[in-house]
Amino acid sequence: MFWDREIETMSRSALERMQAARLAETVRRAAQAPFYRELLKKSGVGKMRSIADVSRLPFTTKADLRYAFPYGFLAAPLEQVVRLHSSSGTTGNPTVIYHTKEDIAAWQDLVARCMYMAGMRSTDVFQNIMGYGLFTGGLGFHYGAEKLGALTIPVGPGNSKRQIWFMREFKTTAIHILPSYALRLATHVQEMGLDPRRDLFLRMAFVGAEPHTEETRRRIEQTWNIKVYNSYGLSEMCGPGVAFECPDQSGMHIWEDNFLAEIIDPDTGKSLPDGESGELVLTSLNRTATPLLRFRTRDLTRIIPGACPCGRTHRRIDRIRGRSDDMMIINGVNIFPMQIEQTLLRIPGIGANYLIEIHEENYMDKLHVSVEMAADAFQGTLSQLEGLQSRVLAALKDETGVTPQVKLLEAGSLPAPEGKAVRVIDMRKQSGRGC
Ligand code: AMP
Ligand code: ZN
Repeated sequence: MFWDREIETMSRSALERMQAARLAETVRRAAQAPFYRELLKKSGVGKMRSIADVSRLPFTTKADLRYAFPYGFLAAPLEQVVRLHSSSGTTGNPTVIYHTKEDIAAWQDLVARCMYMAGMRSTDVFQNIMGYGLFTGGLGFHYGAEKLGALTIPVGPGNSKRQIWFMREFKTTAIHILPSYALRLATHVQEMGLDPRRDLFLRMAFVGAEPHTEETRRRIEQTWNIKVYNSYGLSEMCGPGVAFECPDQSGMHIWEDNFLAEIIDPDTGKSLPDGESGELVLTSLNRTATPLLRFRTRDLTRIIPGACPCGRTHRRIDRIRGRSDDMMIINGVNIFPMQIEQTLLRIPGIGANYLIEIHEENYMDKLHVSVEMAADAFQGTLSQLEGLQSRVLAALKDETGVTPQVKLLEAGSLPAPEGKAVRVIDMRKQSGRGC
């Protein structure tokens, strides 16, 4: 049941002692990097004696990483560095994270720990449907699955027919996939006249890398007839392997031997107690090439109070509600894209893919929501279409307080990128306004 029983079930006091020792070492190590050398000298924080001392450290932001591009955060001599990865979806300089052999080994072990916790074993056949390359999702899981000992198929994303062919031929039992692609791929399975219960061997999927709701998870579970586990990570900490769901599926255990987690109020920077929602701030505790201190992830979540029935002592974070920078303000009303996703997926007849667009007309913000219908939902009557459209409109208005324009589309008509789904286009930003 445990990949590393001793670490996973360590008492809180032993875990915190380990964190304190690793925090002191991480700060010492970080001071080797040009950016932190300056910052730590200026802020005069001194030695870390307990984990509470972390609050004396300054925050690190994505902007800092870009500012110090390319080598400002490198804390190891170049001859010890074996790989770099960079963060996706950015403009300007990318953020670059370096890895020594020890970093790669520790990361690999963390991902193996995650997959083993969810129930994957060396007898499984693992198809990795995530992008390989600078993005950490592909290679991170690849090496983790090999460490666990499962047959690993490095197929990467896209080419849906081929994915399904691989699944059938090799009798794939576990996949790693973007949640948006898992739903789209399921429609291809249907179109090919296949039934996952009868024609496939899948038993579990690991999904992550982009925000998604509980409704999306349940829908993936139902359409594929599998168990779906949420996987959280970010390239700044290593990539996948930071937090992961156990069979209880009630939040993601954050591996506290490797990461020190805080939740802060994103506006004031003040620490919040367990249970309260805010921005996740992470300090790496075991990274050698690019240790990061109090990195502001921008991801909104909370620490779930209480122990998990699985027996692991590492605390759990809740599903990521969105990013503090993806909140949309529409005529003064705050809306998160995940609220829209949650509402849409609860409506029968609605498919998996949607796009939110915000325009400005006569100094007023307008919200447009285009959503695909389920492949079998439309039997051809106009009144049926109108009925569905008004149900969507009423549900969105009820959830957000804003009246959107709703457009129903045929299944498969929205663009389907191979990487993370683009859910929001804010035309106000392109015209220099917006938030
Ligand atoms: P990257 O820097 O490309 O590794 O992207 C990391 C970001 O992806 C995180 O900061 C989150 O915003 C998002 N992310 C990763 N995993 C999840 C997840 N399971 N749920 C929601 N968002 C996620
Ligand atoms: Zn658990």
